[in-house]
Amino acid sequence: MVRVRIEESVIWGYTPSIMKKGFSLALVVALGFGIFVYAQEDKKSGMPVAKEVPKSMTKEEAAKLTDEEWKKRLTPEQYHILRKAGTERSNGQVYKEFKAQGGGSYYCAGCNTELFSSKEKFDSHCGWPSFYDPSKAKNVKTKVDNSGFMARTEVLCAVCDGHLGHVFLGEGFATPTDKRFCINGTSLKFVPVEVVEAAKKAAVEKGAKKEEAKEAGEETSSKSTSSEVKGGE
Ligand code: FE
Repeated sequence: MVRVRIEESVIWGYTPSIMKKGFSLALVVALGFGIFVYAQEDKKSGMPVAKEVPKSMTKEEAAKLTDEEWKKRLTPEQYHILRKAGTERSNGQVYKEFKAQGGGSYYCAGCNTELFSSKEKFDSHCGWPSFYDPSKAKNVKTKVDNSGFMARTEVLCAVCDGHLGHVFLGEGFATPTDKRFCINGTSLKFVPVEVVEAAKKAAVEKGAKKEEAKEAGEETSSKSTSSEVKGGE
């Protein structure tokens, strides 16, 4: 009987204590791992900055892409938001980058279509990039969204159907529209105004060179025609 009591004491007296310690340790490790993963996710979820004006896809090209092809083209964060209607966390790394950006345009990270610009950007203090209007209205479309037991209006890219965020009306913002396009920064690509200006300048120079070449070509051709005429005389 004594021997049995000792064993019971070992089982019920010490084991729970070990289990408690083990459980606490597992909790600390899980918590630490969670914080590490969260921090890593936040580091990854930046907004790409274009060095040249991106070439947009057509609706037809976008519609042809399979889910697997989208996965290959996008980062996991972009895929989650654009193709699976995900939401980035508020006040994250991408939002900090957005707030620090100067003038420029915001293109769809999925299909490179221009959607918003810094001219319509405003600080709504909601923790996500906010615009009072799109810069290219035809490139943005909306849809009723009743998910999550809420009646909201979803905002999508009209070219690739990528999920961008939601739009809220009449919240009392002192903007020309009192609309808040609450957009996931991860779904966007920033094109700084200097890049747009450089592209415009390069296009003008290219046009001027083409014109010069055309004029030079015409001059040569008219000279040769004139000498042919003289030769014929
Ligand atoms: Fe798009």
